[in-house]
Amino acid sequence: MHDPLDLARRLVAAAARITAFTGAGISAESGIPTYRGAGGLWREYDPAKFADIDYFREDPSYYWRFFRDVRYRIVAEARPNAGHLALAELERRGKLEAIVTQNIDGLHQAAGSRRVYELHGNTRAIDCLDCGATYDFAAVHEQVRTELPPRCRACGGRLKPRVVFFGESLPERALKAATAVTASCDLLLVVGSTLQVHPAASLPPLAKQVGARVVIVNVGPTAMDDLADAFLEGPAGTILPQLLEAAG
Ligand code: NAD
Ligand code: ZN
Repeated sequence: MHDPLDLARRLVAAAARITAFTGAGISAESGIPTYRGAGGLWREYDPAKFADIDYFREDPSYYWRFFRDVRYRIVAEARPNAGHLALAELERRGKLEAIVTQNIDGLHQAAGSRRVYELHGNTRAIDCLDCGATYDFAAVHEQVRTELPPRCRACGGRLKPRVVFFGESLPERALKAATAVTASCDLLLVVGSTLQVHPAASLPPLAKQVGARVVIVNVGPTAMDDLADAFLEGPAGTILPQLLEAAG
């Protein structure tokens, strides 16, 4: 029997155009909990409420309280981990073409990755829905200490984080790019995603269809383990640096 790590290292060594697809799992070791595996404070807030667009329209204070009391500090204090850094290094070495991510934490960019397509937006940017003014999340964090929900300083309009809520459609540009870089890769490296919902779920089959190899890194099973050429069970921060060693 093949050792999956050994096989994956050979696939990475042989690949010339890797596309990485990352989910919440890659940031878990940076202290940002996944929704499903959430513990502590994060659990006191329900993603079905703070991440739902209808709920946000009805009661924006719920999101902003979650932002004020939980999310802001977790994201502001998070630093890229060895997994993010390994992907950035793969890009520098010319092996990795792009990262497609469902994460909204900006940690790939903080690690030095340049080509990052964010399917769910980025929580560090905040927009006024009425006049289009944009705000940094540190400034809005100051504001929500005394004003809930926060209002636009310029026009008094409603503020919303630049993230895709449940019930909203994905940004078309990022979606197109995700499909294009998957259709043109020779290895799709999936990290920390359950691969249960689209478009995540459509990328591995697309990669296989164009003849690319698929490597999955996850601490637990995913919906597509059977489709993977190699499935590596374990934390991204340990496994990705081991794959990098093979990348020359
Ligand atoms: P998900 O469906 O992507 O699941 C996370 C996966 O990561 C699970 O399969 C889990 O087994 C795996 N995992 C956990 N720790 C890991 C580790 N150390 N190494 C490798 N794999 C690990 O994510 P979700 O939590 O259900 O979130 C759904 C959506 O919510 C995301 O797609 C994202 O948009 C948003 N979200 C973003 C962040 C972030 O930006 N960091 C965090 C939580 C949720
Ligand atoms: Zn405004």
